[in-house]
Amino acid sequence: MAELRVFPLSCVVQKYAWGKIGLDSEVAKLLASSDPLAQIDPDKPYAELWMGTHPRGDAVILDNRIPQKTLGQWIADNPGCLGSKVKETFQGQLPFLFKVLSVNTALSIQAHPNKELAGKLHAQFPEHYPDANHKPEMAIALTPFQGMCGFRPVEEIVAFLQKVPEFRALIGNVAAEQLERSVCNDPRGVSAALRVCFTRMMKSEKKVFVDQLNMLVKRISQEVAAGKDTSGSSGKLLLQLHSQFPGDIGCFAIYFLNLVMLQPGESMFLGANEPHAYLYGDCIECMACSDNTVRAGLTPKFIDVLTLCEMLNYTPAPSSSKVFAPTQSRLDPCVYLYDPPVPDFTVMKIEIPSSIKLYLISAIDSASILLVIQGTAVGTSTAAISEMTLRRGSVLFISANESVSLHLSSLDGMLLFRACCLL
Ligand SMILES: [Zn+2]
Repeated sequence: MAELRVFPLSCVVQKYAWGKIGLDSEVAKLLASSDPLAQIDPDKPYAELWMGTHPRGDAVILDNRIPQKTLGQWIADNPGCLGSKVKETFQGQLPFLFKVLSVNTALSIQAHPNKELAGKLHAQFPEHYPDANHKPEMAIALTPFQGMCGFRPVEEIVAFLQKVPEFRALIGNVAAEQLERSVCNDPRGVSAALRVCFTRMMKSEKKVFVDQLNMLVKRISQEVAAGKDTSGSSGKLLLQLHSQFPGDIGCFAIYFLNLVMLQPGESMFLGANEPHAYLYGDCIECMACSDNTVRAGLTPKFIDVLTLCEMLNYTPAPSSSKVFAPTQSRLDPCVYLYDPPVPDFTVMKIEIPSSIKLYLISAIDSASILLVIQGTAVGTSTAAISEMTLRRGSVLFISANESVSLHLSSLDGMLLFRACCLL
């Protein structure tokens, strides 16, 4: 028997409370489509689909000729499947975790340390920082997607300080004026003033910020009831977040951070020390394998204010600069590459038009995970022996240097995402 190096996976669904409910969730829709036996509970959240080898969600191999049960076990026994460079660089581990997220209520505002800081934090506080790795992340929208990312241009923050007295009260006049004056300074002066303002907000006493937040919510609610335009205080977003996290300091963070709206296919990359939050929508996500997260609000979990205020990237930039554009492959016009400035992962979007009936998923020098978002096909590979039926929600593991032929059976083409590591 030839070696089985391409096989379908059954992936783990995480039912965190913030997920979209029932078949409103893209995660639930993919599960229902790929597995006819899956029962979708119309009242339960379906938050994340994990496609990878993480110990809390190792994918199950759907081929009973393979003795190992999970992808993690199989890779441990067959590390050559990673590709020689990936195997060597990442010590025989799959370097990324591929996901689908369906976000109904906001996830905590957070940032992830770089490798150097992650190592230090893990050594000092292993209970809060469970590993020594960095955790760059990339989100690609599947439906219109709302998130926050990076510090706003200073002019926008200054405008909020002037229009939202409750926000200004939290920062204090001295720091607010310092930021206002910094607008004409060099970038280092701006970052320093921004750091002081943000730190003052994060360090304010609970009673103080809850009082200010309640005053602000009351005022904006009255303005909304009176039919007034509240966009000058970002009223709609404030009420949205306050309804989900009443009395949370993260509600004020909207005046510091960019609101980013992604259309399907658009993405944002979250590098080290970049403050961010996912607010609403469905997306593909790829990340380096790590659990290191430093939180800044919209959460009941531990907030490490000192580490957070120390580590953040205080470079202001407009919201539009946070949208990360893919590049069309020169070798294959169906492939768009989302290639972030980290070695751990790359995501390909593969759009096969309806005119193509036979398509080759090309061999690359990296293990990869393929997810079908739309369309149907029969897949064949010399490393799979039998045919594989691919439909919406199907997930395939493809070993390095193996290819898969897709014989399309749908009339409207296919949409696939493939995570890999191109060193
Ligand atoms: Zn994150």
